[in-house]
Amino acid sequence: MICNNKYLHPAKYQKSTSGNKNAQGDREKAEVTSGTVLCLLCPHNCQLKEGQKGICRTRINCGGQLYTLAWNNPCSICIDPIEKKPLYHFLPGTKVLSLATAGCNLRCLNCQNYSISQFSPDALQAHNLTAQDIVNKAIEHKTESIAYTYTEPTVYFEYMLEIAKLAHQNGIKNVMVSNGYINREPLLELCNYLDAANIDLKTFNNNTHLKLTGAKLQPVLETLLTLKEAGVWLEITHLMIPGYSDNLTLFKEMCQWLVTNGFAQTPLHINRFFPTFKLCDSKPTSLTTLRDAKKIALECGLEHVYNGNI
Ligand code: SF4
Repeated sequence: MICNNKYLHPAKYQKSTSGNKNAQGDREKAEVTSGTVLCLLCPHNCQLKEGQKGICRTRINCGGQLYTLAWNNPCSICIDPIEKKPLYHFLPGTKVLSLATAGCNLRCLNCQNYSISQFSPDALQAHNLTAQDIVNKAIEHKTESIAYTYTEPTVYFEYMLEIAKLAHQNGIKNVMVSNGYINREPLLELCNYLDAANIDLKTFNNNTHLKLTGAKLQPVLETLLTLKEAGVWLEITHLMIPGYSDNLTLFKEMCQWLVTNGFAQTPLHINRFFPTFKLCDSKPTSLTTLRDAKKIALECGLEHVYNGNI
């Protein structure tokens, strides 16, 4: 029975049918009550019936309360150079302890990590590591930061927040590599402990964003603005996928929006796409398109523009 899963932990940002917003609940109580619960963590705002998981596959209604299945339950841990996130202007030349749990709130056709992102935490082997264990690993390996990455960190929000708080107490910085699909209130709470973020701005067209990811574009733009307002160091990644996000006219509009909204000094990583997952029949981005895009971004007024994956 999944509601007895040992990694189950009360989820934040929920509203039950009784109007119990942000209820933390307890497992015993959860097992005897029932009802629909609304998740307020990301803009999908899933309304879940008893036993139902959200789109992210990491949050579940057990007894009328929302729980996360991702607590203390990472599926991937690795030490990377910070430039691999990519972050080029934040602690350059340092190592970062990177981790992920299973699950994602998007359905990107081009996901490189679909073997972990498109599964529920209870479907993959868990490492059973507490927040303190993660911070101890960062201390042991002398990394200056911890990155929440690989899948979508929003879906393991409570675990990330717990690690991030402990990391700061130990002088370690926190980095989120994200699709930006998170509601403002939880994001603002996270920003208290977040030092840097790299956000994927996948396309500047809402219909294409929906087709490519299953999610709307506007919340991602709002996340960029919130991170900026909160003073979190920000870098942006744009992957140029042929037929989806390599239209240079639209790319120019995106760059103009970034400059108009105060992101001229925010590094932009324009990355090359290689066929993967559900886009195995596509071609890699042409190098000419990548170079042209970089030129356009610079002409629009962005000051730090990089071509990546080439
Ligand atoms: S975090 Fe998961 S359960 Fe919550 S709204 Fe988003 S997809 Fe749905």
